[in-house]
Amino acid sequence: MTDPVAVPPAAVPLAVPLPPTRTPQRALATEAVHAGRDDLARLGVHAAPIDLSTTYPSYDTREEAARIDEFAATGARPDGPPVYARLDNPTTARFETALARLEGTESAVAFASGMAALTAVLLVRSGTGLRHVVAVRPLYGCSDHLLTAGLLGTEVTWTDPAGIADAIRPDTGLVMVETPANPTLAEVDIAAVAHSCGSIPLLVDNTFATPVLQRPVEHGARLVLHSATKYLGGHGDVLGGVVACDEEFARKLRQVRFATGGVLHPMAGYLLLRGLSTLPVRVRAASATAADLARRLATDPRIARVHYPAIGGAMVSFEVYGDPHEVIAGVRLITPAVSLGSVDSLIQHPASISHRIVPEGDRRSAGVSDRLLRMSVGLEDVEDLWRDLTEALSARPGREARSPESRTEPRSAPAASPSAGR
Ligand SMILES: *Cc1c(COP(=O)(O)O)cnc(C)c1O
Repeated sequence: MTDPVAVPPAAVPLAVPLPPTRTPQRALATEAVHAGRDDLARLGVHAAPIDLSTTYPSYDTREEAARIDEFAATGARPDGPPVYARLDNPTTARFETALARLEGTESAVAFASGMAALTAVLLVRSGTGLRHVVAVRPLYGCSDHLLTAGLLGTEVTWTDPAGIADAIRPDTGLVMVETPANPTLAEVDIAAVAHSCGSIPLLVDNTFATPVLQRPVEHGARLVLHSATKYLGGHGDVLGGVVACDEEFARKLRQVRFATGGVLHPMAGYLLLRGLSTLPVRVRAASATAADLARRLATDPRIARVHYPAIGGAMVSFEVYGDPHEVIAGVRLITPAVSLGSVDSLIQHPASISHRIVPEGDRRSAGVSDRLLRMSVGLEDVEDLWRDLTEALSARPGREARSPESRTEPRSAPAASPSAGR
């Protein structure tokens, strides 16, 4: 009788995706539904399999040792089973492959959140002794905080795009911009900034534009960051982050991810892959509605200023003459919540919420007025959104407090008569 444990392994059928194929690049809409799924028909399935394994059995310890050595030396995705889930995951890898195709990069590395992704980039650079970062405000509030507080031992110089070349020092490891920026939607000329960076890697946070509207590597960026929590996921039900870049940088990011553990859960990887398949249609539809709302707001006497990017997009920011808190309290269809990029519309007050962590003076000088509201436009009908917005804009202090029940009450005030809002 043989000891069952000593039985040599039978060929283990593993649903490991094949390495990214080198097919010529297909159109974005096609990649959105096919990239990361090219092997599914051969596997005999239609939906991507979800591999929840935390560990991977192997009877061949020598081979496992070689796999571990190879990853430690190169950071390349392991050939065959990943040994342990912190090293790699086949489901998450499908999302990485797909996002890389959409951004037009060799590789992408996914993380537990956008902030975990930014952390990994900063650690890769400071790990080589290049601790200085040059950055342009505004950035997402927590990105600003991470750089300003120096939590990771980095030092930041804030500048405007024209000042980047002068701000670069011998120990500068990274230049970071966000365009359109959160929350003012200010735009940066990526090609001009990339030129100023010389050989220093330029990181562009592309969360707001998505690869549907802008592919930063085509303009000279080396690293593209996403809070996948926003448009890539698209349904407000998954937290994730990703960096799209060349394979050389991706290898360093994978080693940092393995060492620090900010991995994306495979279920989140699955949801993000699914989100990508509708990304182009969601972004185009929501952008058309957002552009329409921006036009209406621009001629509304209650609005002091509208911010809407030249490249388009589904975010609209606007400054009100009245009390921004009353507008937030007055919405019924639009959800008053931080975050963005979901199928439903959200609105928030950056000075109170998303950019609260940025010191008041820095916030104001970055153009984040206390009267600024930031709206993430979803897939609702434009007339319904406009009615809700225009009624909320007419809200006055002392207006009936919102209660959960009042959300379901039909509203009768016509859009054309803002003073009737109640
Ligand atoms: C939300 C956001 C982040 C942070 O991403 P998380 O997934 O919340 O960690 C980074 N950049 C931008 C532009 C964001 O909107």
